[in-house]
Amino acid sequence: MNRRPLIAGNWKMNLDPRAGEALARSLREGLEGLKLEADVLVAPPAVTLPAVAAALTGSGIGVAGQNMLAAPSGAFTGEVSGVLLRAAGAEWVILGHSERRQLFGETDEGVAEKALAAFDAGLLPIVCVGETLEQREAGQTLEVVLGQASRGLERLDEKQLLNTVLAYEPVWAIGTGRTATPGQAQEVHAALRGMLEGLYGAETAGRMRILYGGSVKPANVRELMEQPDLDGALVGGASLEAESFLALIPPYPAP
Ligand code: PEP
Repeated sequence: MNRRPLIAGNWKMNLDPRAGEALARSLREGLEGLKLEADVLVAPPAVTLPAVAAALTGSGIGVAGQNMLAAPSGAFTGEVSGVLLRAAGAEWVILGHSERRQLFGETDEGVAEKALAAFDAGLLPIVCVGETLEQREAGQTLEVVLGQASRGLERLDEKQLLNTVLAYEPVWAIGTGRTATPGQAQEVHAALRGMLEGLYGAETAGRMRILYGGSVKPANVRELMEQPDLDGALVGGASLEAESFLALIPPYPAP
């Protein structure tokens, strides 16, 4: 099945509105006039998002929030809802990133609730899953990752699933410079696809995009993306500069 790749940049807690707008403009210029072979989006911090969304209007580059609360509004000091993200210019939202799970206690049940709330707010979710190093070394990778994915998606209907993106991000590969080998990544992606097929059927499983994330950079992106079940990348560090992020987007620039 033909799945259009998606290259997503997660800026994490970096780039203020001025710096974010400048990077957005550089990305826009860098992609102008190119016949892209992938969808592209960036996920700025919430305070930077409106400036980035304004700078990218009409460019074809999407904008995502990095997290949201499931409730649409109310007495939740310090939180941002999907409704607010949408109003600020986001079309997507990253959910269940391992930093959210590890540092802020996010659970699969919470991710499932947020995924449903994202659709209610008019956002498309990118649901992240991934095992820690200890879990991998204990041989628990597939059990952990498939469990996170099945529970995180369990409240969505078929139409919503087709508009949901999964991201496999081994925790030991995030921000460490240590990338999963193409074979390691493909093994997990194929298992995720197999699980989706068992739960939702071949048609839905064949159309859902599964991104890989974990120290993706210009030097390793091509061999990762050659794997049959890798449908794009969720990128942290290499998304913070125009040159390295643009180099991840097919058709890749000439070296
Ligand atoms: C991420 O945070 O989603 C990520 C994959 O980070 P990095 O590319 O820096 O490993």
